[in-house]
Amino acid sequence: MKSRVLILGAGFGGMELATLLSQALGEDANVTVIDKRDSFVFGYSRIDVMFGKTTLDEVGMPYASFVKPGITLVRETITSIDATAKRVTTDGGIYEADFLVIALGADYDMAATPGLAEHGNEFYSDAGADRLRDVLPEFSSGPLIVGICGFPYKCPPGPSECALTLHHYLTERGIREDCDITFVSPLSSPMPASAEMAQALMDSFEEFGIRLLRQRTVVRLEPGVAVLDDGTELPFALFLGVPKHQPPQVVFDSGLTEDGWVPIDLPTLETSFPGVYAIGDMAATGLPKSGTFAESAARSVSTSILARIAGNKAERNTGTGTCIVEYGDGRVSYAQLDFLTGPKLEAIYHPPSIAGKNFKQAFDDTRRARWFGQ
Ligand SMILES: Cc1cc2nc3c(=O)[nH]c(=O)nc-3n(C[C@H](O)[C@H](O)[C@H](O)COP(=O)(O)OP(=O)(O)OC[C@H]3O[C@@H](n4cnc5c(N)ncnc54)[C@H](O)[C@@H]3O)c2cc1C
Repeated sequence: MKSRVLILGAGFGGMELATLLSQALGEDANVTVIDKRDSFVFGYSRIDVMFGKTTLDEVGMPYASFVKPGITLVRETITSIDATAKRVTTDGGIYEADFLVIALGADYDMAATPGLAEHGNEFYSDAGADRLRDVLPEFSSGPLIVGICGFPYKCPPGPSECALTLHHYLTERGIREDCDITFVSPLSSPMPASAEMAQALMDSFEEFGIRLLRQRTVVRLEPGVAVLDDGTELPFALFLGVPKHQPPQVVFDSGLTEDGWVPIDLPTLETSFPGVYAIGDMAATGLPKSGTFAESAARSVSTSILARIAGNKAERNTGTGTCIVEYGDGRVSYAQLDFLTGPKLEAIYHPPSIAGKNFKQAFDDTRRARWFGQ
């Protein structure tokens, strides 16, 4: 009998894993992928959406096009996960598996930052980015804050991209001199994994007059005022926030978390339940929460599952990924990171350039073609 593989979540991690299993096993694969959404959106597209450069409809890739031998994708909401029995309940039925891979990403805990929903905006969700398409054009003057409300959060340089793009957006509208931009980050640098990328970002902030407050978290919003963890009060006319992150509620409710995230064995991504893996943003890896790291986890888990099915060799999680930074003026920088292969972190930095933009476009095109045949 074919081994049943159940993948929860069709994001970066889930789609890459399903693709790899389909490539290896073809019609012999027996893989079911469950996701509640009807389309996939690259996280970075939300920055383009909020600044009115595109729409969610334009950037969304319908899951109906995710068609691969041996893979069934169902659109259902997962309501409980029994890791011991490898049994999953959804609003559409019950699924049982021989291998269970949980790749449900990270959700946002708006309530953790009182006042954020009432007095501020967030740009990390589709809905938040879409709302800002209407809010930003109405803005004309005053202090703006790009503020992070908790760590860890997805894509460490994402908020820096927002601050830089905001500068260029306001400049193009001819109102930059009427606005101050402050960027509040809990991190010691805008990109701790690459000192060169961090320095280049800080140089750009200085050049563009963006004030950076490091090692500070936004803990509360009052009307027109952001309160930081050291008690500092910063006035704002517009607040653009990154909400505190947490795993989806169903993951908490299923008892899979410890200290907020899902514990795994870092080299194999296996949880304490045999044959149950956790990959991507919800796994407690200590690595950046980003799509490319979810993909590298998917590569490792695919070799583990194939090894168990057919006796191939399992590969350890390499902890590799690429952090891409949009400067908002046509240039893109990126750093290729390798956390786990060698004795220490390796980071290869590529400064902002138009060639970097081409690299990002190729990144986008490759995944569209690989997952959706576009
Ligand atoms: C503004 C921004 C910019 C970013 N820029 C980059 C970048 O340049 N490069 C990069 O690599 N990463 C970037 N990221 C991060 C990247 O999007 C995430 O790290 C990545 O999507 C994580 O992959 P994942 O597979 O863990 O989860 P996800 O891709 O989030 O997928 C999780 C899936 O699980 C589904 N799901 C959740 N709960 C349920 C449920 N109960 N029932 C059914 N389905 C459910 C969701 O619908 C979702 O499709 C960015 C993110 C943001 C917000």
